[in-house]
Amino acid sequence: MFGSDLSYVQGADAEGLKYITVGRLLDATAAAYGDREALVVRHQDVRLTYAELKTRVDACAAGLLALGLEPGDRIGIWSPNRVEWVLTQFASAKAGLVLVNINPAYRLAELEYALNKVECKALVTASRFKTSDYLEMLRTLAPELATARPGVLCAERLPHLRRVIVMGDDAGPGMLAFDALAALGSPAELARLAELAAILQPDDAINVQFTSGTTGMPKGATLTHFNVVNNGYFVGRAMRFGPEDRLCIPVPLYHCFGMVMSVLTCVSHGACMVFPAEAFEPGAVLEAVAAERCTALHGVPTMFIAVLDHPDFASDALGTLRTGIMAGAPCPIEVMKRVISELNMAEVTIAYGMTETSPVSFQSSTDDPIERRVSTIGRIHPHVEVKIIDAEGRTVPRGVKGELCTRGYSVMLGYWNDAERTREAIDAAGWMHTGDLAIIDAEGYCNIVGRVKDMIIRGGENVYPREIEEFLYRHPDIQDVAVFGVPDRRFGEQVAAWVKLKPGATASADDIKTFCQGQIAHYKIPFHIRFVDGFPMTVTGKIQKFVMRETMVEELDIEITRTA
Ligand code: AMP
Repeated sequence: MFGSDLSYVQGADAEGLKYITVGRLLDATAAAYGDREALVVRHQDVRLTYAELKTRVDACAAGLLALGLEPGDRIGIWSPNRVEWVLTQFASAKAGLVLVNINPAYRLAELEYALNKVECKALVTASRFKTSDYLEMLRTLAPELATARPGVLCAERLPHLRRVIVMGDDAGPGMLAFDALAALGSPAELARLAELAAILQPDDAINVQFTSGTTGMPKGATLTHFNVVNNGYFVGRAMRFGPEDRLCIPVPLYHCFGMVMSVLTCVSHGACMVFPAEAFEPGAVLEAVAAERCTALHGVPTMFIAVLDHPDFASDALGTLRTGIMAGAPCPIEVMKRVISELNMAEVTIAYGMTETSPVSFQSSTDDPIERRVSTIGRIHPHVEVKIIDAEGRTVPRGVKGELCTRGYSVMLGYWNDAERTREAIDAAGWMHTGDLAIIDAEGYCNIVGRVKDMIIRGGENVYPREIEEFLYRHPDIQDVAVFGVPDRRFGEQVAAWVKLKPGATASADDIKTFCQGQIAHYKIPFHIRFVDGFPMTVTGKIQKFVMRETMVEELDIEITRTA
């Protein structure tokens, strides 16, 4: 047939796309499955049915309107996995606000950048998480909070931020407690919500997710209701999800794996969301799956490895599991096999995608042959197109390696307020250039075989070397630095830095790590640091990071595993 010898695939599908908003999706599910359990947050002792979830979401949305927030305003959320995250996700959507996900591991430099880049007017924040004292960091950036009346903050370094809403019932000076939000909305705001439901459009921007940039600071991928509602729905369909399913969600909500592939997937199929802990803990996952009789489990490969290797792991206690998704980084074949046999996830799927494409564009299906399910990322998602191109931009024949490009309903609107980066990523014909290298075979199964982009994936977190290099250039002793990834048994990859010090400078590896602490997220801080006099270069003066990587692999004696 026409062009079938080329690496171009499309997800023709009898079931149409759903042209609805996130708010309408929740209302429809609450109407259909009101008394079924929607959400279990074990570490907060919260259980809500879909009817209760909708009531709480509506109250929060009315509260946000009562604060004077208007459709189109940006509202940041900075928190690990908590019930308030899910409430804010739906409440902001119903109020027509643009939810801005801020990585819970972000520190001062990154937080300031993110809030200012998208001009957040309000921020919903946890008070602390692990070693991060969020309120302390906010007070450092906005000391004006101490004397500001709530709602009229005017901070020099955060000039757009007016409101800080703190999760819980205890807010510090200048802040509002999240628990007080629901009581703020009057019948007038509830009536306004009903009006908004008719006005808000599926194509409106609803969410900004920061992804690290190849050139410097993070970029705000801007997604619509239509993007995320449909991607969430079809991700669930590939797992044969239904209202009987109970999904254990150890992946973070700030990332598309949590908020789209978990939350929206469950809500669009009437399934139950089970959060085992604030952040990934293998022991809590095991407990949650057993106690809540979960039928599905999501994770990046390193999470599945940690669960399988946990001392409390007992296959028998996990008999309810059926399906789930491994994604976010190359999925090792051996780990997939163990997930099927030891975690009892006979219908586990692999998904591939990126934040900018809602995220999923390939996913294996539960009835694909087993060999394909452990060794490929499956076939094209419904209604999505993918082509593989060579360096000249021409589509390559099947079986030939090239860059994967995605087009369709799932592609983001663009990077927030950054037309240039958007043009670099999405071409005139609407193709999102992913920077991933892939091969599509004659039957349409795809393999990710590398990356053109200079990116490290450490335990499922993307790290862009350029961002770290730019940060390290601020160190007074550093003359030049090159950051790259090296394979790592535990995290898949680890961050390595080769550093050239200024003449006479004596900074140690510990000094450099201390310099990063508190300023950039812990997972970006170089783990391996080597001091060198120069870098391997090509004749044209281009740094050869692959040579440094090979040197480190040899030096650290790392063995490289086979992946899907
Ligand atoms: P993010 O935008 O954080 O979701 O990261 C997207 C990137 O993660 C992709 O561009 C890939 O490089 C990588 N990725 C996601 N899923 C997979 C997978 N199943 N196999 C290999 N790499 C993946």
